[in-house]
Amino acid sequence: MIYLGKVEVIRSYNNRLRSVTISMEAPAVVRLVQFVRRHRVRISFSRRNVFLRDGHRCQYCNQSLPASELTTDHVVPRSRGGTTSWDNVVAACGPCNRKKANRTPAQARMSLKRQPRRPRSLPSLGLRLGSDSAPESWREFLAYGGTIEAA
Ligand SMILES: [Zn+2]
Repeated sequence: MIYLGKVEVIRSYNNRLRSVTISMEAPAVVRLVQFVRRHRVRISFSRRNVFLRDGHRCQYCNQSLPASELTTDHVVPRSRGGTTSWDNVVAACGPCNRKKANRTPAQARMSLKRQPRRPRSLPSLGLRLGSDSAPESWREFLAYGGTIEAA
């Protein structure tokens, strides 16, 4: 990216990178010359992505649980024509899922925390860098407890 002119090196490490044709300081901090527009991707429907959209919380009782203890619930049960889609599947804990059973939320007298929709984005897996673990040359670019998004 440096040779294509897409990034500028702002800080370098002291060691040099060598190849047959080039020798350069190892870049430590680079700046993108042009803002890279993120493509709006359609987020694929999956169990894991439903849990991410719902913040790993049961959409009926709001309990926060690890993925291993969450289930997916069809808001309108499949037996009543409900589809397996972003608009009809939510994260639910086991007890709420069993309590709701083969009924709609209204029939089960249970309410959803929010109406499920296809998400435009999902929380990214951030790499948290504390001031101790960040390389020296990065520190001035990191706010305290700053987060660098993993690419
Ligand atoms: Zn629940």
